[in-house]
Order: sequence, then C-alpha cells, then structure tokens
Amino acid sequence: MGPQGPDKEGVMKKKWLIGNWKMHGNLASNKALIEGIRAELPEPDPRAELVVCPAFPYLYQLKDLTAGTGIYVGAQNASDHLQGAYTGETSPLMIKELGGSFTIIGHSERRQYQGENDGLMGRKSLAAIDAGLIPVICVGETAEERDSGRTHEVLARQLDAAFGYIRTAHDKIILAYEPRWAIGTGIAATPEIVQAEHEFLRQRIAIRDKEFAARLPIIYGGSVKAANAISLFSMPDVDGGLIGSAALNATEFVAIYRELLQTIPADEAA
Ligand code: PEP
Repeated sequence: MGPQGPDKEGVMKKKWLIGNWKMHGNLASNKALIEGIRAELPEPDPRAELVVCPAFPYLYQLKDLTAGTGIYVGAQNASDHLQGAYTGETSPLMIKELGGSFTIIGHSERRQYQGENDGLMGRKSLAAIDAGLIPVICVGETAEERDSGRTHEVLARQLDAAFGYIRTAHDKIILAYEPRWAIGTGIAATPEIVQAEHEFLRQRIAIRDKEFAARLPIIYGGSVKAANAISLFSMPDVDGGLIGSAALNATEFVAIYRELLQTIPADEAA
C-alpha cells in the first residue's frame, strides 16, 4: 500500500469503514476527533481500512492529522471536470493534491439538495478515477420508491448510469448502498433488506464483469451505530459501512470499527 492509497488488490479484498462528516467540524473539533479515534485505536487493523471524509476546506488539515496513522482521507464530493472555468467546483485533482485518496460520489443529500442526477454521478466517478481517487459511489431508493415496489428499478438505473462510464476491469471503486429513508433517520435498514439489495447490486454488476463483481466492496450506509453494526456487517454481501452521524463521535466510530473486525474470519489474509 503506497502513500497515495491502497493498491487495487488491497481495495478489492478489504473491509471498509468510511466516515462522512458532512458539513460538520472546525479546526479544533476535527483535531479532537482524530485524536479521539487514535486514543481508542492506535493503529487500524490491516484487514479493515478506515477513511474519514471532512468538508473540503479541512482536507489539508486532515492530511496532516492522519499522516502516518493508517487512516485515509476522502472528500464528500468532486467535480466531473479535472480543471476549467467551473466556479465553486473542486477538481478531484485538487482533492488528490490535498491528501485525499477517496471521494464520495452521488450521496443522496447531493441528489436531494443540489439536484445531482445519475448521469452526473457517472461523469464524476470517471473524473475521480482519472485523477487517481477511489470513488465511493452511492446508490439508494427513497421510501416512496421502496413502498411502490420500484427499488430494483431505481438501483438498476443508478448503477447502470455510473457503470456506463467505468471500465470495470481496470478501476478501483467502492459501491455504497444507502437507502435514503435510512439516512439520518435513526432507523437502519434490516440486515435482510441490506443483504438482498447488495446481492441485487452485485448480480447486476456481474452482467458486465463477473470477476470484478465478486471482488467489488459494497458497503452499507444509513443509521449504522455500534448497536446494530454487527448484524448488518455479518451479511455475506456487506463489506463495511458508510457512517454519518456516528462518525462524529470517536468512541462510537471506533466501536463500529471493532464490530466490523469481528465479522472478518480469523483466517482471512491481511
Ligand atoms: C450518510 O450520510 O452517508 C449516512 C449514512 O448518514 P447516517 O449514518 O447519519 O444515517
């Protein structure tokens, strides 16, 4: 694993815990949060990677705070362009230069509040890959879509839009299933729902590339906390979690990480 992030094999084999700090934090609280994580967890286990995604202005601070700690840094969004006259946008190349190895793409809050659509998610994923970042591509249905029996239709549409831009065999990607109704509500999807949708997503990707689909990390996000983490992470197609509010509390975040470690068979190679 190099300083620019995990290598391809590393990405594809590991478990992942990714903290989305959203529009929270400041210089002092970010420092306290990383110090808190490190106090509870001096070194992440090589079988499960830890990533924190601060707001853009703090990327460079986090590069400093996480240097030599084994914790990776990611952004919460990135432009679909590498450079140019795009006022207010942030290039994935800039994220990379400021120490980011990852970027969340297509988070439902961006779809909801910034009007991002499937096509943009695909273009952003490709730009991130071209800049050397690993996109954490988010898909997920709303409550209304689930209630009207359209979950698979929606997931397929979102997935196909993103993967239409991606050369699967060559690219490093993490897929996140984040049902919108579970994000920030305190009510996580049941392990059975999560497993069923992860399986659906994996099968859909297998139509394009079977071997890639088998190795692709698919993580779950939506009201994960220490109390429900093990039941979610124990599901066979769940490779970790994308954590929102619980990632802002060092003790809770590390407790979730420890639950994730418990789901890894002891004989699994690091
Ligand atoms: C998220 O925003 O990606 C998320 C999973 O949030 P929460 O854990 O707060 O539901």
